[in-house]
Amino acid sequence: MTPNLHLINHPLVQHKLTLMRQKDASTHSFRRLLNELAMLMAYEITRDMPVHWVRIDTPLESMDAPMIDGKKLVFVSILRAGTGILDGMLNVVPGARVGHIGLYRDPETLQAVEYYFKMPSGMAERDVVVVDPMLATGHSAIAAVTRLKALSPRSIKFACLLTCPEGLRAMQAAHPDVPVYTAAVDRQLNAHGYILPGLGDAGDRMFGTR
Ligand code: URA
Repeated sequence: MTPNLHLINHPLVQHKLTLMRQKDASTHSFRRLLNELAMLMAYEITRDMPVHWVRIDTPLESMDAPMIDGKKLVFVSILRAGTGILDGMLNVVPGARVGHIGLYRDPETLQAVEYYFKMPSGMAERDVVVVDPMLATGHSAIAAVTRLKALSPRSIKFACLLTCPEGLRAMQAAHPDVPVYTAAVDRQLNAHGYILPGLGDAGDRMFGTR
């Protein structure tokens, strides 16, 4: 059991994930479902976001009311599959900033190789949510979080749709302080680094490539 694991088992999330897993789901429905799922997951992930109080006028009187500071939040998308989750989360927190990390999996070693890194300024004052649909071997997630920790953000969370015991163990060993949010923990990894039963290659299914 991973102490920092947040399993989002809301029925709506689980239902949409089941639809996405099915091999006959079209590219269009896969992308739409990923977007909807990301919006639902964003509720859970942002549950502890700090709020500040502002004085407002309702039609009847003045009051102090809470507001989140969306600009302090940065969604960091691991390219390319992170894009799908990113879009859904930005629907819910439109004021958030966005960073991108380009990592590809070397097919021989399955290790993450970085080819792109672009973050907003002032990272030391920001709360980061790294997004990638699949936490499989954990190599990309670990490399992304290691790189981000060097910028000393206020906090880092990792959000994915699906993971497996191998990915969680690797993440826990490398970054025990980083909470992982996911909709499901599947059975295992196969020899090619795919999650079983999983949903296949998230990027290919999202973009209709392959
Ligand atoms: N990346 C994917 O897209 N799918 C997996 O099953 C594992 C990694």
